Amino acid sequence: MNIPDIIVAVDGYSSTGKSTFAKLVADKYSFLYLDSGALYRGVTLYALEHGIIAEDGAIDEAGLKASMDSIELDFRTDGTYLGDRCVEKDIRTLEVSSHVSPISAIPFVRAFVDDKLHAFGKKKRVIMDGRDIGTTVFPDAEVKIFMTASAEVRAQRRFDEMKMKGEDPVFEDVMKNLLERDYIDSHREVSPLTRAADAYVMDNSDMTLHEETVWFQGLCQGKFGILE
Ligand code: C5P
Repeated sequence: MNIPDIIVAVDGYSSTGKSTFAKLVADKYSFLYLDSGALYRGVTLYALEHGIIAEDGAIDEAGLKASMDSIELDFRTDGTYLGDRCVEKDIRTLEVSSHVSPISAIPFVRAFVDDKLHAFGKKKRVIMDGRDIGTTVFPDAEVKIFMTASAEVRAQRRFDEMKMKGEDPVFEDVMKNLLERDYIDSHREVSPLTRAADAYVMDNSDMTLHEETVWFQGLCQGKFGILE
């Protein structure tokens, strides 16, 4: 199928399978895939490693602001980098997950990440996933998708994913983290998680990856008048 050079924005709740779906589309149609959450996670990892987040979770915002210029985050073929270090695994821990939403609610952190995302978006033919891509980062994206699924399905997916990586998660902790992030992400003042009015909703609670791909194909066929 011949999809034009467009930006596809994929937003939605935590663990709805946004990145799996976006990677699949990127591979199938030769799009550049960008994981905006990885950048927020990268800033959070930096803050944890530099004593900017206290044991009780308090954030030294002034300290973080003063450090922003030293945070060298980038995407390379094997994942997210902080300086010369591949942090792809380190940014996916439950510790980072439990601090990332308060960090990403800070306006100067969002501005820092948005700048990077806009630079990548210049390339076009990009599929980007996150919470505010279709509403704030690329409000003119040609295709906007809002993904959702039941909390039980999402927590189970994240739990299985962590198990597969050799971690030993507690299901209730995974669920708690997910719901907390959804709440903070949806209620923050700057760029809260919300469906863009022109986004297509995909509830994938009972969908296979193949069905998700077929759904996307149908959407593009209708939108761009592509025959097959
Ligand atoms: O997508 P992922 O779960 O890795 O994102 C981690 C966190 O980063 C989210 O819970 C949210 O707090 C934040 N985020 C955001 N805006 C985005 C992407 C992620 O606030 N566009």
